[in-house]
Amino acid sequence: AKRQRGGRQLCFFNQAIAHAVRQRERLLNEVAQALGSGEFVLHYQPIVDLPSGRTVAVEALLRWIRPDGSLRLPSAFIPEVERHNPRLMQDIGRFVLESAVRQAETWFRAGFSLTVAVNVSARELLEEGFLPTLAELLGRHPDLPRERLMLEITETAALEKLAHARSIMNACRGLGVRFAIDDFGTGYASLTNLRELPVDRVKIDRSFVAGLPAAQGDRAVVQAILRVAQVFGVDVVAEGVETPTQARALQALGCRLMQGYGLAHPLPAAQITDWLRDAKPAALPLTCAGPPLS
Ligand code: C2E
Ligand code: MG
Ligand code: MG
Ligand code: MG
Repeated sequence: AKRQRGGRQLCFFNQAIAHAVRQRERLLNEVAQALGSGEFVLHYQPIVDLPSGRTVAVEALLRWIRPDGSLRLPSAFIPEVERHNPRLMQDIGRFVLESAVRQAETWFRAGFSLTVAVNVSARELLEEGFLPTLAELLGRHPDLPRERLMLEITETAALEKLAHARSIMNACRGLGVRFAIDDFGTGYASLTNLRELPVDRVKIDRSFVAGLPAAQGDRAVVQAILRVAQVFGVDVVAEGVETPTQARALQALGCRLMQGYGLAHPLPAAQITDWLRDAKPAALPLTCAGPPLS
């Protein structure tokens, strides 16, 4: 009887796994189709310098808009694609880079001076075809100043291949492209990454910004990141800035570059163009919120 029950549980377990596998297969097929039929677009979120209010950069964020108009966020599919279909991830990565570079060139020609940041997963970066693809893409956009493209690499296990990552990043930088470490402070080797990799910018993960200014631990982490970044000569963006209080606390700590719903949500390119044309510092929700905290 005991064995029979075990057998039944095992059977149930197998069915659950089979179900999960089928669901994943369905998702991966849907993603491949969506990419082919133009359901993917990029939205862009401003990165703002305070107190000047100038938008110094925008981050490209992938959006899947389905025919019925509903939106799927990257967290709902990118991790799955990356783990289970690296080829498809490469195709998505190419689409993203291609669109972002084209848009960066459009803004450059329109006279806006801003960087476009593109997320690249560590696995994409370490893929053999990455560098030649990037070089070829930039070759097709000769007018775009290379330093206007910044690649954001998240701290993940893949980055453990430090020597490999470093050589690819150096080669990309040889093309003129710059790098940011994304979600900085969440990886277990943040400081090693900063020391070993050719980085121009770090982005403080929003989990450390959330508790400002009250949470002493978060405050200490932010302070430490700012100090270390200064020593290494890299600039710092705070992610996930949602409230005036957080913005003022960051300013008081000496952090000027900020990104978050409190400043602007990710928007379609056309709306970003309007934003760049119209945005006056006083129009920013966070700057009319009183004097900086000390
Ligand atoms: P990330 O690169 O750290 O991007 C920031 C994420 O935080 C975005 O989520 C953005 O919409 C969200 N965010 C911005 N401001 C706030 C805020 O004030 N509060 C909160 N709670 N969230 C805020 P999103 O667009 O869902 O992207 C999630 C992650 O997916 C990104 O994190 C990035 O790692 C990845 N991702 C997005 N687009 C791409 C892409 O084109 N390629 C690759 N490889 N990964 C991408
Ligand atoms: Mg990012
Ligand atoms: Mg991030
Ligand atoms: Mg992230």
